[in-house]
Amino acid sequence: MNHDTIDATPRRLNYSEGYAYDGGSEEAGTWTFWEAGACQGQRDGETCGEIVYNGGQCNKCAYEPQFEGPAMNYFYPLNEERMDENECARKLARLPLVLVRINGGDNNADQYGLALTGGGMDLTWEICAAYIALGYVPPAHFARNLPMYAGLKLTKHRREIIRWCRASLRCQRDWNARGLTRLRDTVDKMKGGR
Ligand SMILES: [Zn+2]
Repeated sequence: MNHDTIDATPRRLNYSEGYAYDGGSEEAGTWTFWEAGACQGQRDGETCGEIVYNGGQCNKCAYEPQFEGPAMNYFYPLNEERMDENECARKLARLPLVLVRINGGDNNADQYGLALTGGGMDLTWEICAAYIALGYVPPAHFARNLPMYAGLKLTKHRREIIRWCRASLRCQRDWNARGLTRLRDTVDKMKGGR
């Protein structure tokens, strides 16, 4: 599991501006997304169900899915310069999140992150599940705020999320403990050098 996003925090990003269709714009700050889901087309009298991607066509029934992309103006950072975008979208297909890439332009690297496709309720569990699905330990920002609802059962899936949230918080705790030791050593050395 990748530990690079433990300190990551959400950023505001206005998705109503700068959408570069199919990654087509070279302009810095423009963004594009990858979304996947079960095909809603018809095949042999039944709903197809094949995994389909935005901007593509179902290879089983030729249905062209319409995905809406980000619905909430937040960007949850990932720490990669290159990702297999469709592979990531497929791993997120059952979650209300999509992969987003912000174009860095000529001078900066592109940035990848996650965005919610729905809202109206606390989706912290889903955000953590998305980080885990892509091989990341969830950011401590979310790990320390997993909400409890009436009727929420401790399923295998939720145990897995809790396990990685614990890993995230323990890791950050250890980093902070080392940071405190370092500060103490620094003070000791400064006093000694008086
Ligand atoms: Zn289909």
